[in-house]
Amino acid sequence: MTRETYTLICPECGAHFDPTQPQSYCRSCNSPILAKYDLTAFSRSLDRDEISARPRGMWRWRELLPVQNHSNVITLGEGDTPLLRLEKIGSNLRCSNLFVKDEALNPTGTFKARGMATAVSRAVELGIREFVIPTAGNAGGALAFYAGRAGCKAHVYMPSDTPVPIQTEVKMSGADLHLIDGLISDAARIAAAAAAEHGWFDVSTFKEPYRVEGKKIMGYEIAESMEWKLPDVIIYPTGGGTGLVGMWKAFDEMEALGWIDSRRPRMVTVQSNGCAPVVRAFQHRAERVEFWQNASTIAAGLRVPAVFADRLVLRCLRQSSGTAISVTDEEILTSQRELAAMEGIWAAPEGAAPLAALKYLLKIGWCHSDEKIVLFNTGSGLKYI
Ligand SMILES: *Cc1c(COP(=O)(O)O)cnc(C)c1O
Ligand SMILES: [Zn+2]
Repeated sequence: MTRETYTLICPECGAHFDPTQPQSYCRSCNSPILAKYDLTAFSRSLDRDEISARPRGMWRWRELLPVQNHSNVITLGEGDTPLLRLEKIGSNLRCSNLFVKDEALNPTGTFKARGMATAVSRAVELGIREFVIPTAGNAGGALAFYAGRAGCKAHVYMPSDTPVPIQTEVKMSGADLHLIDGLISDAARIAAAAAAEHGWFDVSTFKEPYRVEGKKIMGYEIAESMEWKLPDVIIYPTGGGTGLVGMWKAFDEMEALGWIDSRRPRMVTVQSNGCAPVVRAFQHRAERVEFWQNASTIAAGLRVPAVFADRLVLRCLRQSSGTAISVTDEEILTSQRELAAMEGIWAAPEGAAPLAALKYLLKIGWCHSDEKIVLFNTGSGLKYI
């Protein structure tokens, strides 16, 4: 009998799920389930410097990812995005240690590639051949291309007012695109019904356990780039929260591996004030996120009115002594122009939101000019023209 390198556990009730079968989420808790590796064993066998010496890309960290046989990896070259210092913007804001992790350089132009590479690779390894996803846009684009590369069919349900380049991307891949009159939450209902009817595998945010595994590698890359000392603050544009929860998980894994100490960055969620359900829940000290009515923002990836992993997202913000703030679409557009004109980075609106948030956090004294701060640009501005 083969043994997988990890187990699957519900973080709410502790129930175990069989990792040798395709899994979704814990139906009794309505919670995501998470992969747990034998880090005690890895702390003896896995050497961070050996991983640093491997050829570039996300799969350098393969022992910490769920694909069991490396030959089953479906890759387009995701990961190892640059951590760029923001000299000019930093000096204007009197921040001497300001960086952006530029995820726009991933395949399909956003960090969704990391999650989809992982979820599709593991699903195909377990025999899945047909996928479905409701999406605010970029997750659909990423699924379409990774499924296509795997020779699998993808069915993508996205709002009909998603930016045209993202719609075109899905069509170009040969995936089956359904445009929905409504938001990702409406697309989710229709996609779930189609999935049940046809037996397609649903890779919705946190409704399978492996997209978060791919995104957690951003945490490993940041630690490695900063010589295994985490920054003071990470500012992250939050939709479903996959990256936030993933990096938080990665930090715990790295501590268990003996690669970093117990210090953690303060994690900051940024949302648009046209759809800020996490910010509202954080401010109300709530444990759950309530549905945001009439969500509207130019930052398509943040137009996520219901957050399935709400408990994990809010715990990460609180345990890290972080915070959650919203910015206006206008502030996003101003920051987007500054990143482009001053630093040569054409960020997606989502990816410009962290700079808008930073300005506010400096003004109120929550961030300090000498702190090491990492902003996340999650996607390319080219997908929003
Ligand atoms: C999906 C997306 C986000 C939000 O990511 P989560 O990890 O789901 O919170 C942010 N920016 C872009 C460009 C996205 O596509
Ligand atoms: Zn449970």
